[in-house]
Amino acid sequence: MEMKKAQLDLIKKQLETIKERSPFYREKFKDIDLTSIQTQEDFEKLPFTTKDDLRNAYPLGLQAVPDEKVVRIHSSSGTTGTPVIIPYTQQDIDDWAFQFKRCYEMAGITPLDRIHITPGYGMWTAGIGFQLGAELLGAMAIPMGPGNTDKQLQMMMDLGSTVLCATSSYALLLAETIAERGIKDKIKLRKGVIGSERWGEKMRARIADELGVQLYDIYGLTEVYGPGIGITCDEESGIHYWDDFVYFEIVDPITGEVLPDGESGELVITTLRKEGAPLFRFSTHDLTRIIPGECLCGSEFPRIETLVGRTDDMVKVKGVNIFPAQIEEVIQQVPLASSEYQVMIDHLYGKDIMTVFFETAAEGEDRAKAELDLINTFKSKVGITISPKAVALGELPRSEKKSRRIFDNRY
Ligand code: ZN
Repeated sequence: MEMKKAQLDLIKKQLETIKERSPFYREKFKDIDLTSIQTQEDFEKLPFTTKDDLRNAYPLGLQAVPDEKVVRIHSSSGTTGTPVIIPYTQQDIDDWAFQFKRCYEMAGITPLDRIHITPGYGMWTAGIGFQLGAELLGAMAIPMGPGNTDKQLQMMMDLGSTVLCATSSYALLLAETIAERGIKDKIKLRKGVIGSERWGEKMRARIADELGVQLYDIYGLTEVYGPGIGITCDEESGIHYWDDFVYFEIVDPITGEVLPDGESGELVITTLRKEGAPLFRFSTHDLTRIIPGECLCGSEFPRIETLVGRTDDMVKVKGVNIFPAQIEEVIQQVPLASSEYQVMIDHLYGKDIMTVFFETAAEGEDRAKAELDLINTFKSKVGITISPKAVALGELPRSEKKSRRIFDNRY
């Protein structure tokens, strides 16, 4: 995507002083003359900032403002090892709230709504972000935090919550409990704002159905404000993101090359206005693509695909990057194939061979037809030729983890 002039100007302005303000970038960019960065092309030569860089700056190495300007810190959950600490100025907090309010507005949420917030409060950016946005919008925030389903449902009924903010798994648990207890007529929810993660269409449909709400996927990460830098719209055709605050690039996760719009790769984010801990070309490990063209909703904010996975789940076969969600999508388009599959990747006689096992109820000629259908769909959607192997229903092992369905035997 072509960088807008306003974006380039904001980036150049930050780069002018970043070495003075930030010991972290003074070191990172020590061999680069930042005044030479004048175009998008120049910018794309800057090195990526990785999660490890951020961890190595623990605790406050990322801080790019004097102490008196820092009003708060947040920390990424850090499932492994050292957490990442992000300092925020008041301007950063205000900008975050503004973006979050915009998310609520994109979802058709108004000052008359009562926003039931179940994500956690604390060091991470979830609950408090949902709250900031709700207050700035002028809606009633109900800061529940996670857990205690009985109390959640009681408050939901007594206060007449109209918007549920939750993870997809907690939203599903609430939906199921509401159905079990037969209290759906006492629940006034009309919208659900769900923290973006990979969740299947079936789960989405169940939550929407059982709660009787329209769902929106909100996107964000602690390193870049938190949730609220983008959200899906009524068209459900991707996540609109706020390109006046963040600049998105999609790069090939292996070569680091910037990819054209429409192609899937790793999302790399640059903050345009952040003061406390600005980020240049931060590698998110999230896999997605920029959706070309305008959205039917009329919004001019650009879109990315709802997250399709993590770069860690990706495999490269015959020079093409492939990830689990793509394989699932192909299999869904083959009418005779069920949803269960397994993939083996081997390297034989000097070339990659990808074998896709899938379950089908079809037999005989129909089975051969299903295999041919899979070859053709794979070729047209992913661009490579695979070797299909149809098996009977129930023959493949069941696994919770989707990435476990891909076995790379090449190394
Ligand atoms: Zn839209």
